Amino acid sequence: MNAFKNALRQLDGAAIIAATDQSILATLERPERIVEVNVPLTLDSGEKKIYTGYRVQHSNARGPYKGGLRFHQQVDINEVKALALWMTMKCAVVNIPMGGSKGGITVNPKKLSRAELERLTRAFTRAMKDVFGPDRDVPAPDVNTNAEVMSWIMDEYSQLNGKNEPAVVTGKPLALGGSKGRDTATADGGFMVLEEVAKKLKLKPKQTSVVVQGFGNAGYHIAKLAHQAGYRVIGLSDSRGGIVDLRDKGMDPDNVMTRKKEYGMIGDMYCIGSVCDGTNYKAIANEKLLEVKCDILIPAALENQLTEKNAGKVKAKVVLEIANGPTTPEADEKLARKKVLVVPDILANAGGVTVSYFEWVQNRQGLAWSAQKVRRALEPIMKAAFNEVWERRGRYQTTMRKAAFILALERLSEAIRARA
Ligand code: NAD
Repeated sequence: MNAFKNALRQLDGAAIIAATDQSILATLERPERIVEVNVPLTLDSGEKKIYTGYRVQHSNARGPYKGGLRFHQQVDINEVKALALWMTMKCAVVNIPMGGSKGGITVNPKKLSRAELERLTRAFTRAMKDVFGPDRDVPAPDVNTNAEVMSWIMDEYSQLNGKNEPAVVTGKPLALGGSKGRDTATADGGFMVLEEVAKKLKLKPKQTSVVVQGFGNAGYHIAKLAHQAGYRVIGLSDSRGGIVDLRDKGMDPDNVMTRKKEYGMIGDMYCIGSVCDGTNYKAIANEKLLEVKCDILIPAALENQLTEKNAGKVKAKVVLEIANGPTTPEADEKLARKKVLVVPDILANAGGVTVSYFEWVQNRQGLAWSAQKVRRALEPIMKAAFNEVWERRGRYQTTMRKAAFILALERLSEAIRARA
């Protein structure tokens, strides 16, 4: 499945409804710049290997390029192009003055030692020294990258430039100018959107069941927030499998995380004597988790999880896309026909880039905001974005995804026209 083709179908579908100027659409259909680098790495064993990395800069019409960095064996150029396009749209939906980019290295980081990973990250940063920059292009964490990886990039880039450059990346540790609240921002923003959806659909937490696919940074935190607010989290999974709560009562994601750390996986841990047991919990394959009867399904893993094949089997009322691109256009159509409300990634997971933007602002001003200030700044942005998308959904009688793209296209068109 070509994620970039999917992203283009989403863009073009919305552009027809919004009657976007053809020349503006043509600009947005192609990334402004694609950089591919081949980075040599000496493994701990002395063996030398070459890894391919990418940075795709989709649009800087509204501000410097901004987007995460993914380390995964499946990273390919079409995936990175799609993710970069979605970043442009996302920043426009939440109305922050940043553009869209994305990067990645085709590598399975779980097979590298920490020292190898650091050398690879630093070599990649050297290769990208003229591509990254606080006013040019600002990376952040994504799948399999974290605050530590960001600190290596910040340190390497600062050394190359002979001065401290904290604003070159976001998602850094607090000690290096990271923002309070960045680690949970994607989930915080997603949960704010979920609360808005719940208001519109009159869902009560206790009577609302939630299933989360992907138990990483974003998935774990949103499961935790939902549980704390009283929603029943009845299914969770990671790349090695999942569990469902047969009692339908809901489980505590913190207990599951403790067990995951102990056993290294979620699936099957129910039978190792834990939070889970064979009577109340059942192991479930990843694909099956998406078909579990629930009210809110939250994909928080990778792209192309809801497809033409399984969309018909989704039993949720709402799909809240915390992952980027989890639903293919074919699945979107099927879900719309089934009246499943799909809250698109470019709205639902935009809390991450919004707090990244706050981090960049703090670094440039030499300030450190309190956690309360971050939250107070995030909430109105997420709520306004939700309501602006919801309004367009009604006005154009369309899906939330198309409505979000329409909103983004309005803002991008204005910026592109103003520069011409
Ligand atoms: P992560 O690496 O912390 O977690 C990914 C999780 O998904 C892991 O638990 C992994 O085991 C699981 N997973 C992988 N394949 C799976 C499968 N087939 N079934 C079930 N689980 C599977 O990554 P993350 O940062 O949490 O990102 C997850 C998604 O959210 C990505 O699509 C990412 O682009 C998106 N996202 C993340 C952020 C952020 O701030 N972290 C922001 C916006 C969007």
